[in-house]
Amino acid sequence: MFVGHYSVAFAVRTGKIPLWVLFVAVQFLDYIWATLVLLGIEKLRVIKGFTAGSMLDSYFHPYSHSLIAAVLWSGAAGLCYKLLCRWRGYGYTKSAALIVGVAVFSHWILDLIAHPRDLPIYDNTAKVGFGLWNYRDPEFALEIALLALGIALYLARNAIPAIRKGAVIAFGIALVVIQIGDTYVPRTALSDKATALGVWIFYTLFVLIALFVERIGAGPQTNTPGS
Ligand SMILES: [Zn+2]
Repeated sequence: MFVGHYSVAFAVRTGKIPLWVLFVAVQFLDYIWATLVLLGIEKLRVIKGFTAGSMLDSYFHPYSHSLIAAVLWSGAAGLCYKLLCRWRGYGYTKSAALIVGVAVFSHWILDLIAHPRDLPIYDNTAKVGFGLWNYRDPEFALEIALLALGIALYLARNAIPAIRKGAVIAFGIALVVIQIGDTYVPRTALSDKATALGVWIFYTLFVLIALFVERIGAGPQTNTPGS
């Protein structure tokens, strides 16, 4: 699963948690994974045609992608968000830590649908995965359907100016184009480290765009004296 993960970020974005934070949350497990691959702790093989929809043979990723690890990272991320809000004095609402935690955990559920049987329940054993990546078109269709649904919910549930609506839709279209490239455009397999670095770069680019998009049409920031 790739851009489909962002459907959750769009769908749960109401209230005070910024979209960019949710963009980090839904890919948090992959950030951990890419970091551990770069450090040589988790193992990845990039094999052309490994599955119809992905070249990733992620054969050892217990610290980022086991079910137990996903639960622990989700709890830790929710707690960190809560502490960060308190520390920085951001408006923290009661359910925010839970929403961030659920967003982080959603990654594992969506990976479970797409991945071949490479997601361990604990440690590096009892591996599960429904393997939708073996079916290129249905997997692609699911990614796009999820993303469209998430964006539709975001647009329906947030009162935002027309100019930002346009920007969000344009961002959605850009993500669809990137998914088309990822799924259908043939390319040579990169090394494991280059792939992990690419994950860091692309995901962070999307986070920055999410940050930028929510500033469009926000008006000048007013700092009232004494506040
Ligand atoms: Zn993942």
